[in-house]
Amino acid sequence: MISLATEKQENVVTDLVRKIGQYGGTAPGPIVVCIGGIHGNEPAGVIALRNVLKRLSETKPQFQGELIGLAGNRRALSRGVRYLDQDLNRMWMPHRVWSLKSEREVSDGTSENIEQRELLAEIEKALGHNPESAIFLDLHTTSADGAPFAIISDTLINRRLALQMKVPIILGLEENLDGTILNYINELGHAAIGFEAGQHDAASSVQNHENAIWITLLGAGCLSPDDAPPVTPLRQQLKAAARGVPGVLEMRYRHGITTSDDFEMNPGYLNFHKARRGQVVARDRRGEIRLPESGFLFMPLYQKQGDDGFFLVREIKPYWLKVSALLRRLHADRILPLLPGVDPLTEKGQAYLVNTRIARWFVIEIFHLLGFRKHAEVEGKLIVSRRRQSPEE
Ligand SMILES: [Zn+2]
Repeated sequence: MISLATEKQENVVTDLVRKIGQYGGTAPGPIVVCIGGIHGNEPAGVIALRNVLKRLSETKPQFQGELIGLAGNRRALSRGVRYLDQDLNRMWMPHRVWSLKSEREVSDGTSENIEQRELLAEIEKALGHNPESAIFLDLHTTSADGAPFAIISDTLINRRLALQMKVPIILGLEENLDGTILNYINELGHAAIGFEAGQHDAASSVQNHENAIWITLLGAGCLSPDDAPPVTPLRQQLKAAARGVPGVLEMRYRHGITTSDDFEMNPGYLNFHKARRGQVVARDRRGEIRLPESGFLFMPLYQKQGDDGFFLVREIKPYWLKVSALLRRLHADRILPLLPGVDPLTEKGQAYLVNTRIARWFVIEIFHLLGFRKHAEVEGKLIVSRRRQSPEE
């Protein structure tokens, strides 16, 4: 029933096995798969997983379903760097995963290629136990200081799980970043939450991760409240850490970079720093970088590796979440084919081509409300598709 891997708790994690540990698996219930350290300079998630599994193994509570803890980028974790050859959290495009699964040779032969193959095998094994009701928790930390937060693809089950953590929720990252493991899992139709616990090396980040894991296990019904640490203080701790930040925000802009840009963030920005349009926040070899619109600065890059200079997010009022949940339950998307400039791309209305020269009104906002995401925008044409939904939607 219980298995635990190594016991070390340092910032560089060596001798790490892929499967950090596992608990439960005898009584029916959801599979909860937690991944720590898919970025190798973010060991807090691995340490938190070990702590939670250790406590479970000592207290031996009744457990509905199963918790599986997986290590992400083991080679990078052992060196304390984000990655060795390429970012393991930008490699989960469906065609690539399909190649890995069909055991075709993926030609790049990088360290992360091996990592991905191994991690995918463990994920497949975990899903093999109970493919219907899996919940993924992908544990991260950031280079900048700031509040913990959750990242989700906007499905109702993801919302429910993320809202109980009492941290800000970011929607729409998948429209700005390709190949994240979170998006891959979501597209399989499972619930998936990305949890960012705070700064890489802060002790509070380990604690925040532990809180998020316990809250998820309770929310999923794996544990009864008597068998976990009291959840109210855990939530209060997370809520306090995120004080002053709106509850739900949407992604508005990503400033992508390459190494030849010589990108440098101006010092002193925290996650969720309120900023105005036109404000200079960074510079590169072309000069000053100004914000294209007002909002909250998000994940400013203060480390050498990475392709995302910074993001901009803006608040979504809770009212709109309620409206969108209602519209989805009423299947309001049935009106979409009737609208001018909106053409179905599939028979069951899973994807649409929108001519934004004809459909000029808040197009993407309407599709977001109805549970769709943007895929591409080319010459006035927008491709949107429905996010994979879980059974309860
Ligand atoms: Zn990360």
